[in-house]
Amino acid sequence: MRVLISVDMEGIAGVSGHDDVSPGTAQYERFRRLMTAEANLAAAGAWAGGADSVVVNDSHDGMRNILYEELDERAELISGYNKPLGMVEGAAGADCAVFIGYHAMAGTAQAALDHTISTVQTHNWYLNGVRVGEAQLNAALCGHYGVPVVAVSGDDKLGRQVRESLPGTRVIVVKEALQREAVRSMGRAEVARLIRQGVEDGVRAREQIAPIRTSAGATIQVEFSRAGFADLAAILPEARRVDDRTLEVEGSDVVEAWRRADLMLRLAGSGH
Ligand SMILES: [Zn+2]
Repeated sequence: MRVLISVDMEGIAGVSGHDDVSPGTAQYERFRRLMTAEANLAAAGAWAGGADSVVVNDSHDGMRNILYEELDERAELISGYNKPLGMVEGAAGADCAVFIGYHAMAGTAQAALDHTISTVQTHNWYLNGVRVGEAQLNAALCGHYGVPVVAVSGDDKLGRQVRESLPGTRVIVVKEALQREAVRSMGRAEVARLIRQGVEDGVRAREQIAPIRTSAGATIQVEFSRAGFADLAAILPEARRVDDRTLEVEGSDVVEAWRRADLMLRLAGSGH
């Protein structure tokens, strides 16, 4: 039984400010170590839940954060950028997925480093008309492969959004967000206990947790932060303009829609 663990960074316990998750800073060097430690806790939970294969996908920024030399020796690691499925590369062939270090969607009050996909270029994302964050979008990508998301960790606001959108998924809250860049993290012993136990419970319950199924002909709408970013993204022939800052792409399924949305983001990222 194969478990995919997608690890982002904003929702790791202890992370508060933007420089904590920004490569090239002294703070980042501390927190990539703690990110690796939470991946290890999740892996321990997965093994305890019956996994015989654990694949960790580095999902933050350039996706080269996790320290391989400190990662659980039995776990495989997917690292690096330009992966077709991005944060959930490895979903095909997995029996269930776990999201660690995730964060609330863009525009959430008192949420740790809230954003959706891009902090700079985009605000709201909608999948088939429903506002989504990274947890919901990636759960839908996993769902395409029949893979349920069995546990998600991060702050209390992410926890609330996951409870509302992903039925049955175990919610692991490791910190309370006080402001966008201020958090109250639980003690490290409690964080360790919660992640290990939450992941184990989720993995054991994987057959009772339904994958998120998206209808054929999926639509993703991206609201860019500035019209100029939308102008660049609109170079993609499949992009349809909804309004000055919002573009829409369709796909025959959610994965195809995601690939087109990802391309729009790359075009937008070529601007300033
Ligand atoms: Zn991130």
